[in-house]
Amino acid sequence: MNTAFYNELAPQLKAHQATLIAVTKNQPLSALQELYDFGLRRFGENRVQELCEKQQQLPADIEWHLIGHLQSNKVKYIAPFISYIHSVDSLKLLEEINKHAAANNRIIKCMLQCYIASEETKYGLDEQELIDLLNDPNFKTLQHIEIVGLMGMATNTSDTKLIAQEFKHLKNIFNQIQSQFFSTQKSFKELSMGMSSDYQIALACGSTMLRIGSMLFNP
Ligand SMILES: *Cc1c(COP(=O)(O)O)cnc(C)c1O
Repeated sequence: MNTAFYNELAPQLKAHQATLIAVTKNQPLSALQELYDFGLRRFGENRVQELCEKQQQLPADIEWHLIGHLQSNKVKYIAPFISYIHSVDSLKLLEEINKHAAANNRIIKCMLQCYIASEETKYGLDEQELIDLLNDPNFKTLQHIEIVGLMGMATNTSDTKLIAQEFKHLKNIFNQIQSQFFSTQKSFKELSMGMSSDYQIALACGSTMLRIGSMLFNP
């Protein structure tokens, strides 16, 4: 673990009232255990199989976040324990999560992933698709999911102005969706944006959850 980086990050998290999701994908169990022993409890993984294997072997009080693309047929594996799913990008997936959450007698916190980057490869909903999903009568019937916010990824670029523009755009979408659909739901408050390369910009633009991997491990 790169504790020097964490010690630099911690006061910034506090100043912005943001939380850190330690992205542990591709890391061995020993690295996760080291974070755990240091006191971190929120871990993010992007693949279901890896997430489940690690969850089974590590302490039960870890809060697990799925941050990568989720296929409907894999929801059943994580439904018993997952705390947050950041990467919901369709109503069909949300219905599947709802079904398995109900079977486990749980309510699963979800974020809707928004497409904000000027790249072709990223998953997510555009603004209109987001609004259509939230207006869909079937959405309103889902009792075992709770939409707690939005997630997005900026373009992978060194152009910090472009990144800031994309994060501000997501913050604007968040504000609009919050007032239009969630004005009476206090739990809609999370904006999951910012990774190792762009977390400072994300914090300045209103991020509440940073998803940081490489910087936490590589000195
Ligand atoms: C890997 C990953 C991260 C963390 O990226 P780093 O550059 O290692 O900090 C954040 N979000 C998602 C969705 C990822 O897959």
